[in-house]
Amino acid sequence: MALKEYRKKRDFKRTPEPKGDTSKIKTEKKTKQKAKKFSYVIQQHHARRIHYDFRIEVDGVLTSWVIPKGPSTDPEIKRLAVMTEDHPMEYANFEGIIPEGGYGAGSVIVWDNGTYENISRFENMKDAVKAGHIVIKITGKKLKGEFALMRMRARNPFEKEQWLFLKMKDGYAQPGYDVTSEKPKSIVSGLTLEQLEKKHAKKV
Ligand code: MN
Repeated sequence: MALKEYRKKRDFKRTPEPKGDTSKIKTEKKTKQKAKKFSYVIQQHHARRIHYDFRIEVDGVLTSWVIPKGPSTDPEIKRLAVMTEDHPMEYANFEGIIPEGGYGAGSVIVWDNGTYENISRFENMKDAVKAGHIVIKITGKKLKGEFALMRMRARNPFEKEQWLFLKMKDGYAQPGYDVTSEKPKSIVSGLTLEQLEKKHAKKV
């Protein structure tokens, strides 16, 4: 089951995160997926450290990576992306506080979202993920244009997969621009991570 690891890590009696509806998960389709649009989201998450979670819809779940420094729209800058467990589709809308003591405890904002298209040499994104060679065209509010995710050789089979996330050169490339510091706010609430934390602290 695709969400086994996701569910094992969390206590849904305590966390406001979605459990996910597994009946909605589609099995891999043999049909060509090129030119279709799928969901994309980046969440900024203040757990032990502030990081960004990059997620794309692949066969009914959100395939996920942790990008410690966040995305860059400068094609010269490659960012480390560590693959993590699949998340349910419903997670794309999650913004809030994961309570103390729980997995990933801390604040989460929806930093960007939208759709992506598979422009890799694979017809299906699942094959691109398997091959470690993803090229997508993102249509988000902050990120736009072509991006690539390339798997690096794992140092050992017990380590999480390490990938590189980078902007491809196109009309949307922004050399020298720092998109995470220039555009820090949630595209849902308009709050920064810090403002969400302050708002929450007042309530408890
Ligand atoms: Mn995270």
